[in-house]
Amino acid sequence: MITTPVRLHYEHTASAGESRFLRGLADGRLLGERCPACGKVYIPPRGACPTDGVPTTDEVELPDIGTVTTFCVVNVPYPGQRVAPPYVAAAVLIDGANFAA
Ligand SMILES: [Zn+2]
Repeated sequence: MITTPVRLHYEHTASAGESRFLRGLADGRLLGERCPACGKVYIPPRGACPTDGVPTTDEVELPDIGTVTTFCVVNVPYPGQRVAPPYVAAAVLIDGANFAA
């Protein structure tokens, strides 16, 4: 066994849908996108529906109400952690969306 430092540097360019989502957050709005084929709403937008393979072009503003579908209490510190433990990480199904974020 060997222990060695590891570093991973990457850059992410937000897609058009992600950019609209992030601008919406800055304005205090939750913006998702609806699939024109199946009607599922994705938030954050993925740009395309994985079921139908078509672009999700219909923007949908969602309420700030949802259901916590799962959560975890984080008690273990790790390098680069932005929030000091203990804290809760949760997935929330926003009302009107089809998938938890
Ligand atoms: Zn679809």
